[in-house]
Amino acid sequence: MRYEQCEPGIEVNGESLGATVDAFKQYPAVVSKYLVKHALVKTTNGKPESIDRASWYPLDKWLAAYHEIAREVGINSLYTIGKKIPENATFPAHLTDVRAALGSLDIAYHLNHRKNGTLMFDPGTGTMLDGIGHYRVELSDTERKARIVCEEPYPCEFDRGLITALANRFEPMAKTIHDNSTPCRKKGDSTCTYLVSW
Ligand SMILES: [Zn+2]
Repeated sequence: MRYEQCEPGIEVNGESLGATVDAFKQYPAVVSKYLVKHALVKTTNGKPESIDRASWYPLDKWLAAYHEIAREVGINSLYTIGKKIPENATFPAHLTDVRAALGSLDIAYHLNHRKNGTLMFDPGTGTMLDGIGHYRVELSDTERKARIVCEEPYPCEFDRGLITALANRFEPMAKTIHDNSTPCRKKGDSTCTYLVSW
């Protein structure tokens, strides 16, 4: 899924933007520049306001800012941002192991976005709203492995960082690799696939 294909009216929570600001502590001016340019934050007396982590921000503007930040600072920076996400994002309660954590990825993804003001996953009814693509997670029944197909608008390196950090939270020795034999969003394809083993 290309980020330009996201439906309108979708927002991401401020924690995700906050994670990016945290990941770029060495380059605060770079992040601020793009947050201001894409109207995600206002300036007061020439100084950019800080991100309100309890607030919500337009996803299309955010992803556009993101790609520009990556172009300026380098693609590896996206990996660093992705690694920060599991520290801050909302995850379902009672995650106790790597299988549960990876298995909940698509739900967590939808819990951190809203569409026309409604959370994109309702834990009470299990209803998930469409519009931001999916993380498709296949857990092996017999091996300590998972295959994750990412079909959403975030960048490849961002997802590699996010999945790495999520797996390592429960299995410090877990390895996450990008399956280079499959399509990649860096080449303009619509999906990326990652293999996790622990
Ligand atoms: Zn990729």
